[in-house]
Amino acid sequence: MTRIAIVGVAGRMGRTLVNAVQQDDGATLAGGVVEPGSSLAGADVGELAGLGRLGVAAADSLEAIVDEFDVLIDFTAPRVTLANLAFCADHGKRIVIGTTGLDSDQLAELDGYADKVPMVFAPNMSVGVNLTLSLLETAARALGDEGYDIEVIEAHHRHKVDSPSGTALKMGEVVAEALGRNLDEHGVFERVGQCGPRDPKEIGFATVRAGDIVGEHTVMFATEGERIEITHKASSRMTFAKGAVRAARWVAERSNGRYGMADVLGL
Ligand code: NAD
Repeated sequence: MTRIAIVGVAGRMGRTLVNAVQQDDGATLAGGVVEPGSSLAGADVGELAGLGRLGVAAADSLEAIVDEFDVLIDFTAPRVTLANLAFCADHGKRIVIGTTGLDSDQLAELDGYADKVPMVFAPNMSVGVNLTLSLLETAARALGDEGYDIEVIEAHHRHKVDSPSGTALKMGEVVAEALGRNLDEHGVFERVGQCGPRDPKEIGFATVRAGDIVGEHTVMFATEGERIEITHKASSRMTFAKGAVRAARWVAERSNGRYGMADVLGL
């Protein structure tokens, strides 16, 4: 049994992760952590998740549960995640990171831990999205570097704080890499006013934030006479949570390194 602790256990993903761990026969819920000073410290994590009492009290620090768990699942915020990563490296723990919105300095800091801790880091833990990434790579290679305009369109709920989504950026990176382009150079994240005609090599991003949309992504390859759209729609956070628990069980058996969902799923 993999002993899993969830940080950010009162959050949208945290509560869903409690459900996913409870449904997994190979994993056990060893702890949950809320923000330091939170009024939810001491609450039963099962009750926070709407499951009824599970007998696991929410802690307000990782130190308080350090002997209880083997793998930490972290869907919180970039600075919090980096502090938790350092904690896991110092204490011989493993970590699954779903947090998005890390900037380039934060990503470099995360990479610095690759030889100190076994970690899975993925902006999207769903099996379907990771399959979609490999379909996108195939499509980009087949369509080639000329003639098709590429646009990434994503939609999420009104509470999401980063934009475009980590998944949209990952989709852009996969397509750019397949075409030998650099997303830093060719990504276009805003079009407003007299912005002129489209550069054939640009990869455009458009973002919708509304209501309770769990997560939708479309990559469009459009040319004169036809367009291809590859779309993934998540209808429940459970798809991400199940992927994260699968990643936690997988990384429990791995040595130090930074892994992605493609490694976990063997894609
Ligand atoms: P949320 O705001 O509902 O939850 C975040 C939780 O973290 C909150 O409950 C907050 O109290 C808690 N938190 C903040 N600081 C903390 C600390 N120091 N210690 C303990 N807990 C702390 O957000 P959410 O919708 O659950 O999303 C969280 C992150 O996960 C975002 O970055 C989001 O983009 C990402 N996400 C990733 C995937 C994926 O598949 N990788 C899927 C969905 C969401």
